[in-house]
Amino acid sequence: MALREIRTYPDPVLRNKTSRVERIDSALDRLIEDMVETMRAAPGVGLAANQVGVPLQLAVIDLSSREDEEQRHPLLVIINPELVVMEGSVLEEEGCLSIPDYAEKVKRAARVKVRAQDRTGKQFELEAEGLMAKALQHEIDHLNGLLFVDRLSSLKKHLFKRRFKKALIEKE
Ligand SMILES: [Zn+2]
Repeated sequence: MALREIRTYPDPVLRNKTSRVERIDSALDRLIEDMVETMRAAPGVGLAANQVGVPLQLAVIDLSSREDEEQRHPLLVIINPELVVMEGSVLEEEGCLSIPDYAEKVKRAARVKVRAQDRTGKQFELEAEGLMAKALQHEIDHLNGLLFVDRLSSLKKHLFKRRFKKALIEKE
């Protein structure tokens, strides 16, 4: 296993649509292991393959550090995921490993159903609400080249861009 570099905004790899995973082989398995390790080291609760520069429809989610005992989900690997049901709406704070030191409230569906393949290639469906519903929508957005800041109101988007530019200038 190895840590991979997490690409950060405005890296164009985050903006490209990802391709379907066609082959589930040992190289993909290695990528999944690296992504899990990279996510946990960051630390984060989710990571999409394009965040480590690999444009494939694959993401990992691990909420075990954020949930209470009753709501534990095991480590989740989603391959070629699809949102098939979205219901209700919630406004909650989100952050992203690709946009360090920034969090803002984002409107999301409250409940979702996702169809995906697991790491063996088997298709499954998952119904989720709460933190898991949010994480699934966030990661599937990544695979479509979208970031959570794209879902902010135009005023907040403007403020984000201004803050981001300022941070860049301060770094120089
Ligand atoms: Zn993210």
